[in-house]
Amino acid sequence: MGNCCRKNCSCLSCVLPCVFKEEKRSGSNSFNGIVIQNPVITTQLDGPQVPPRFVNQGEQQRNSYVALYSYEGRTPDELSFKAGDQMLIIDTTHASWWKAKLLRTRGKAEGYVPFNYVAPVSSIESMPWFFKDIKRSEAERLLVRPGNTTGSFLIRESESQKGEYSLSVFDGIAVKHYRLRKLDDGGFYITSKSKFVSMNELVEYYGKREEGLCCKLLKPCITTGIPLPPDLCYHTADHWEINRNSLKFLKKLGQGQFGEVWEGLWNNTIPVAIKTLKTGTMNPQDFLREAQFMKNLRHPKLIQLQAVCTLEEPVYIITELMRHGSLLSYLQNDNGTSIHIPNQVDMAAQVASGMAYLETQSFIHRDLAARNVLVGENGVYKVADFGLARVFKGEDVYEAKNDTKLPLKWTAPEAIRYNRFTIKSDVWAFGILIFEIVTYGKMPYPGLTGRQALDKLENGYRIPKPFNCPHDLYKIMLECWNAKPEERPTFETLQWKLEDYFETDPSSYLEANNFER
Ligand code: AMP
Repeated sequence: MGNCCRKNCSCLSCVLPCVFKEEKRSGSNSFNGIVIQNPVITTQLDGPQVPPRFVNQGEQQRNSYVALYSYEGRTPDELSFKAGDQMLIIDTTHASWWKAKLLRTRGKAEGYVPFNYVAPVSSIESMPWFFKDIKRSEAERLLVRPGNTTGSFLIRESESQKGEYSLSVFDGIAVKHYRLRKLDDGGFYITSKSKFVSMNELVEYYGKREEGLCCKLLKPCITTGIPLPPDLCYHTADHWEINRNSLKFLKKLGQGQFGEVWEGLWNNTIPVAIKTLKTGTMNPQDFLREAQFMKNLRHPKLIQLQAVCTLEEPVYIITELMRHGSLLSYLQNDNGTSIHIPNQVDMAAQVASGMAYLETQSFIHRDLAARNVLVGENGVYKVADFGLARVFKGEDVYEAKNDTKLPLKWTAPEAIRYNRFTIKSDVWAFGILIFEIVTYGKMPYPGLTGRQALDKLENGYRIPKPFNCPHDLYKIMLECWNAKPEERPTFETLQWKLEDYFETDPSSYLEANNFER
């Protein structure tokens, strides 16, 4: 699925550094291996550059963009380009596919480009160290990954103060954070002793000397991967019923309740997951209505619906491919070997982030569980199958008639009893999901049927604290299982509680001359 959002979104995939950023690092106009000046000029990957011809210089500058990543046009109306190519954006009417004119002579010169593959020339968005609006916890996660070393750093938008920026630096042991203060004239500083006209200048300066920072800013944080375009292609952005013959089935990944899931290729090139729905499991019209809504839900922690084949049965649902499959089997396979509490809290935080987005969209998942969370590369977890529970005809699964079906144990009592599914019943299920995470995929209420568990719950019983579960995490689980739905926390609250779980001092931003954590 396209794991990117709209313009100015907070999507991680919009900000992940990339091949181009790697390339920029070895560019000639660099210090300490970082290119800090206009990357477009320093990174010419596709032959000699032809000077652009423009009538209006001001407009040219405003619309001049640089490709952050290489992209192979997937349909005739799209452009192919290389990281570092310059282009003019000539039409942004479509939110996620912009019309561009490539400023080089070879090949097609005009066409659509995915908006998240380009950034204004010389903008901070085009800098290899700028990670836009990732969270502090995400910055920490990225900076301690293999490949980053002492002096790896990134600049991000501040979570708490809109319009402000923070610098996160890995000193070889831990990640330290500094606030970038803004000057009235647009400049920046960390300590008033040294002020800079631009962020570039600040980065260059601290690349040469520590001057109170925990270490020099030696190289931009690396991450892996190029973001997915926002849709399969420009065409499917608005017409997402695709020809089923454009899909190639490669390998069966799993058997779900309503059909099979296959790894496949779209147009022989793009990896996708294809969910094939058993004939009769749903009414295609109901599904299409729901799918229309689901298609517009875009968040980096949600598996996004990319395309559908509904004109004949079996109906296919096309989503992004998640290499490590379901969180449930991922946890069960690990069983404590390499996954520990910090990873587990991070998993829960990522799921809470996706659910917090659904909460803002007044959308209810109805079947949140580890089996419906998927695991991608580099510790990315995404919520899948949101909204589907409503359209499936397997009503005994979602109502209390048949207590042998699994979801009963994830479902809030009021939802089982009175069919009262709300975002608060999702919060209840999230508590069970945390239980699954900390127990490496154990079945909740072992030895009890769903019905027996429900009876006990209504008498005040709650799952006891799993032996390895920290007290604070168990407290969060209990909050999710409050008998009164309205007293359960919001996903927004759950997200920040989990993201700040290890944050002992919330004001732990360092001053530049302060070596204390
Ligand atoms: P489901 O029908 O959604 O329960 O999926 C059945 C199984 O297929 C899951 O447990 C996963 O192992 C696998 N699966 C589902 N969707 C994907 C995906 N997008 N990428 C990779 N594996 C998937």
